[in-house]
Amino acid sequence: MSAFETRRDMFNLPEGITYLDGNSLGPLPKHAVDQTRRTMTDQWGEMLIMGWNKADWMALPGRLGDRIGRLIGAPVDSTVVGDTLSIKVYQAVASALELRPGRKRVLSDNGNFPTDLYMAKGLIDSLGQGHDLKVVDPEAVEDAIDESVAVVMLTHVDYRTGRLHDMAAITRKAHEAGALMIWDLAHSAGALPVDLAACNADFAVGCTYKYLNGGPGAPAFIYVRPDLIDQVRPALSGWLGHAAPFAFDLDYRPGEGISRMRVGTPPVLQMAVLDAALDAFDGVDMADIRARSIELSEQFIAEVEASCKQVELASPRDPHARGSQVSFRFEEGYAAMQALIARGVIGDFRAPDIMRFGFCPLYNTGEDVSRAAAVLSEIIASREWDQPQFKTRKAVT
Ligand SMILES: *Cc1c(COP(=O)(O)O)cnc(C)c1O
Repeated sequence: MSAFETRRDMFNLPEGITYLDGNSLGPLPKHAVDQTRRTMTDQWGEMLIMGWNKADWMALPGRLGDRIGRLIGAPVDSTVVGDTLSIKVYQAVASALELRPGRKRVLSDNGNFPTDLYMAKGLIDSLGQGHDLKVVDPEAVEDAIDESVAVVMLTHVDYRTGRLHDMAAITRKAHEAGALMIWDLAHSAGALPVDLAACNADFAVGCTYKYLNGGPGAPAFIYVRPDLIDQVRPALSGWLGHAAPFAFDLDYRPGEGISRMRVGTPPVLQMAVLDAALDAFDGVDMADIRARSIELSEQFIAEVEASCKQVELASPRDPHARGSQVSFRFEEGYAAMQALIARGVIGDFRAPDIMRFGFCPLYNTGEDVSRAAAVLSEIIASREWDQPQFKTRKAVT
């Protein structure tokens, strides 16, 4: 056992539920309820429009950016929060392409989350400048980096299998070829140590409703390397990324530093939730979270494999080659996951056959792991999943 101390009491975990889906939506941090209520009553309620100044709502995107920055190795003033991750991907790719005007290729992999690919493709089509999006197997990325590549855009942890890319090695390779590097940290921020400064990444983006527990629809973040930001022209040149939004100039001038990656009005209430959620990481060392997450995921694999022969590990067996999730393939994975959820063990399913389980040491315990492994084995052995109510696909899987 590592020395990591669970902060389970900080979270609202309904009685009887074993929650292994923090990789999709982190649970509610209990004190976020009061804190957000106070933002509504004491700030919005009492201050009305004055809240922007009195409660400094305008500073939230940068302040929250710095709180997340601490968890991902980003220096102060290099990360800002706002919009959704899809938007942040668009901004990063657009700015990066402009910084490499002679090159026409965006390189990514087929382990990437589809929205990242869709956004890059949509941007390329709008630009109409002959760019292309090249998508290769994850293992083939390094060899595909050459001097035709403007931008390498990858997600650090594969959302299906949890396979981890080597951020430092790929960033180095991209830079040697003169390309820029964008990392999507959707499944990394709050899950494992990331050191953006040390690996010299140019851009990074990520969401805050997964391992950071910011709540459904919580805003995303974007990081730009400090020595690059002055050259970055924001493609989404909204007024709150302007140097002087309240001068109401008719012409756009990018704001100082990372503030130029802001677009429009920040979602203050959702940011209040995120602000409270980030308290769970105060005083926590990501290396300790990682060590405990590896213990939990190793325990899960061992217990499932000992009692259930019908599922096949889809994640890398080496814990250092995977993020904070474990996936198993099972042909009837959707139905099996629905049967698990009916028994109070919550993971999720990703097509075509992946049953996915996320491990969050802030609130998951060894007992969660044992219960999940035992219920999974029972459901498969007894074919409990083989019932019509488990086979109808819902809108969100
Ligand atoms: C979860 C996730 C997203 C989601 O994007 P939204 O715009 O927040 O819906 C995007 N990219 C990756 C890699 C993800 O894991």
